[in-house]
Amino acid sequence: MKTTVFGYPKIGANRELKKAVESYWKGEISKEEMLQKAEEVNVERMKKVINADLDYVPSNDFSLYDFVLDVSTMIDAVPHRFQHITDSLDRYFAMARGTDKAPACEMTKWFDTNYHYIVPELTGGFKLVKNRPLQSYRWAKERFGIETKPVLVGAFTYLMLSKVYERQEGSLLVNMTKAEKSEKFKPLLFEVASVYNQMLKELQQEGVKAVQFDEPALVLDLDEEKVSTLIDAYKVITEGITDIEIFVHTYYESLDQFEMITRKLPVSGIGLDFVVNGENLENLKRYGFPEDKKLIAGVISGRYPWKTDYREVVTLIEEIKKYVDEDRIVLSNSAPLFHLPVSVKPEKGHLDDSLIGLLSFADERLEEIKILKQILNEGKEPPSQTLQTLRDKFKNEAVRQAVKEIDRQEIKRAHSFKERYRKQIEELGIPRFPTTTIGSFPQTKEVRQMRAKFRRGEISLQEYESFIKEQIKKAVEIQEELGLDVFVHGEFERTDMVEFFGEKLEGFAFTKNGWVQSYGTRCVRPPIIYGDVSRPQPMTVEEIKYAQKLTDKPVKGMLTGPVTILNWSFYRKDIPKKEIAYQIALAIREEVLDLEKAGIKIIQIDEPAFREGLPLKKRKQEEYLNWAVKAFRLTNNTVKQTTQIHTHMCYSEFNEIIQWIYEMDADVISIEASRSRGEIIQAFERFNYDHGIGVGVYDIHSPRVPPVEEMLEIAERTVQIIDKNLIWINPDCGLKTRQWEEVMPALKNMVSVAKILREKY
Ligand code: GLN
Ligand code: ZN
Repeated sequence: MKTTVFGYPKIGANRELKKAVESYWKGEISKEEMLQKAEEVNVERMKKVINADLDYVPSNDFSLYDFVLDVSTMIDAVPHRFQHITDSLDRYFAMARGTDKAPACEMTKWFDTNYHYIVPELTGGFKLVKNRPLQSYRWAKERFGIETKPVLVGAFTYLMLSKVYERQEGSLLVNMTKAEKSEKFKPLLFEVASVYNQMLKELQQEGVKAVQFDEPALVLDLDEEKVSTLIDAYKVITEGITDIEIFVHTYYESLDQFEMITRKLPVSGIGLDFVVNGENLENLKRYGFPEDKKLIAGVISGRYPWKTDYREVVTLIEEIKKYVDEDRIVLSNSAPLFHLPVSVKPEKGHLDDSLIGLLSFADERLEEIKILKQILNEGKEPPSQTLQTLRDKFKNEAVRQAVKEIDRQEIKRAHSFKERYRKQIEELGIPRFPTTTIGSFPQTKEVRQMRAKFRRGEISLQEYESFIKEQIKKAVEIQEELGLDVFVHGEFERTDMVEFFGEKLEGFAFTKNGWVQSYGTRCVRPPIIYGDVSRPQPMTVEEIKYAQKLTDKPVKGMLTGPVTILNWSFYRKDIPKKEIAYQIALAIREEVLDLEKAGIKIIQIDEPAFREGLPLKKRKQEEYLNWAVKAFRLTNNTVKQTTQIHTHMCYSEFNEIIQWIYEMDADVISIEASRSRGEIIQAFERFNYDHGIGVGVYDIHSPRVPPVEEMLEIAERTVQIIDKNLIWINPDCGLKTRQWEEVMPALKNMVSVAKILREKY
């Protein structure tokens, strides 16, 4: 049996690529030095990949910023506002990051992952300006003397992720509506397809033997018409290509149009994800697999950091072999490996040994695929299994039991919203159009330095705590001065809203070097949920209580919700995701009750990643939303009716999920409204939303101080639509990335807006 892998991380074992590119941006190193360093990173990763004894070694899977942007610049899909930049590298980075004159291209999430790509802005008129796959192929051949398989995003997926604009001469572009886009979709796809065809012709000329097109968009909800467009496009792409094996890889989900795609797509092989769930195997059993194609079987996870269970995989492969001849199977990872950190090695001595025994990152995946090949081709004995024994070490029976009960229970608050909201407002003694903020205040250099010093052990816990208290005190004084109605403590003790809680909860681990690319040069270290979750002691009560003592105004308790904590972490696969959410929810609930006991009257439970966990396929979304809502409700269903529960989500696409947002039954939800100029409220109007809404009138993503009139306009739109007694006024997200100099005047204006509203309505 043959093997391949794809998507090995690009960032370097110690984030060398990030460092090189950022130094270049800062002008600390020259372009040549940066490119030299980048090449070294690529050489290192290629060496490791080659070492895995693969039959198809990938190339062209390295990128200085983003692999979607690489396609845009390859086919000259460069928005007008960047076209005057003559240097191609400068233009490339300008599209990603913007310049003084030209705002950056939009960036958005890549499928249901935490990778972000640069959204193509298409107007048509594509041409092949740089055959990157050809260059990468040549480079690998010269450097290592080997044949490689260039990998790039397929034309269909590229189009599916693009925004379509009217072609215009000036820099002003008109974004087209969805309906118009669907009309343009086909012609634009065919245009891109013919550029891809030209690229393949040049590769064929060169003697390239195989090419991989990544087409994860094939797992989305596609109707037959879209699939036949896809097939027609591939006819254009592969026209006259007789000597190259063309592989189309799908991943992150199963193929719903399995039969049509596998039979009719005019390519040499199809990659299927057998790890994400059992559906592709079911499809294979039902429809078989065409004899003229290879099956690239994704059997080793690209998304989860857990060790492969060889026996399980061997059983899976035995099943697959019943439907596809052995010599037509190519074993592979299921999804790109860049979702994983580079290596487990640096974690030895840092993480618990039992946990290390469960982990497998990108380097370990390469090793696994090598061993798998030996097991299957040479009859090597699968390494012994200790995985279950290791997992058992992290079991908490009490938590398991508590979670079991939940499915049988109805989780809701004892009083209806109407009843409790009236009582809450009386008890809080706050005016109409109450003003508040989302939680964090500016994290100044001083704050970050002190936290780092404390982590390094350079200052004592006492020194650190008294520093944090000082910051809280200042923040409270500022809020008094500004005349806000509901205060926050400022979150100075938190670097990150998930990490902070993960570090205090049982069942979470934090790596030392487990960096994963989030976008461009930005990397994150996702927490790893490896065991049952519980809360050994209060996590936030001390700080909130302290803040509350300093003022008569209510101070909000500030927590991160279970769905967000889960969606931003690596999580275990041995129990359902829902159960992990419930476990976290129960831990958060303990904190909520402790805050309530400490006299805190408002508790905000942030869920900015609530929508992010939405499954790719519509038919699976309801199930997710049901348990996600339940997890949120679990955190607070046992509070007194006078305790007010807030939540926060910082985005504006609520249309499809508004019903579930409502069912979360938070007393107040704060949302982003500034960038859409308040239009978002219409989703709430259509639904007749009748709980509290905090309208995010201040765009915190910009350093700009919004004038009173601007914020007032957004707020007034809301007043037209929503019961005025339910409206709160706030910024659209936390202020942690801003400077005090911007925040103070902006909040002052915001408070004026509320005063005007109170007089007028
Ligand atoms: N309470 C958090 C803050 O203010 C919320 C952050 C977020 O929504 N991303 O920083
Ligand atoms: Zn936010």
